[in-house]
Amino acid sequence: MQITTNTVVSIHYTLTDTSGKIIDSSEGSEPLAYLHGRGNIIPGLEKKLEGKETGAKLSVTIPPEEAYGQHDESLIRNVSREAFKGIDDLQIGMQFQSQSEKGVEVFTITEIEGEKITIDGNHSLAGMTLAFDVEVTDVREATEEELSHGHVHGPGGHQH
Ligand code: ZN
Repeated sequence: MQITTNTVVSIHYTLTDTSGKIIDSSEGSEPLAYLHGRGNIIPGLEKKLEGKETGAKLSVTIPPEEAYGQHDESLIRNVSREAFKGIDDLQIGMQFQSQSEKGVEVFTITEIEGEKITIDGNHSLAGMTLAFDVEVTDVREATEEELSHGHVHGPGGHQH
């Protein structure tokens, strides 16, 4: 069957940057299963997969604006160590979630200078052009439950 909105799609993928360095891959594990057309994967990849069928293989390049967005300087902020009360062992690269008006924001500690902590709310792949090698391994109808949750259940999806 064809990939359209609200189908469950399983893919094997390898993600590289424009120099060919591997960033992420499903090789050696279960294919990734996602609910198509619901924003569960980056918009550029979703667009390229639309209409494809099981067995399709594609190599696509996705610009930042259709992937994780441009790097946004305003998401880099300095906060005091006070903001991390109760965490003794702060380290560069640690990730935290905070609740804001826009929903859950994830930020990464990028610098620690005494009491001054620099945090960056950009996605680690923001500003990057991404290359995907994708193989569609399965396309099926979503269940009622999956549609109401907005994500896939079972192998490669949510386990709850
Ligand atoms: Zn669910």
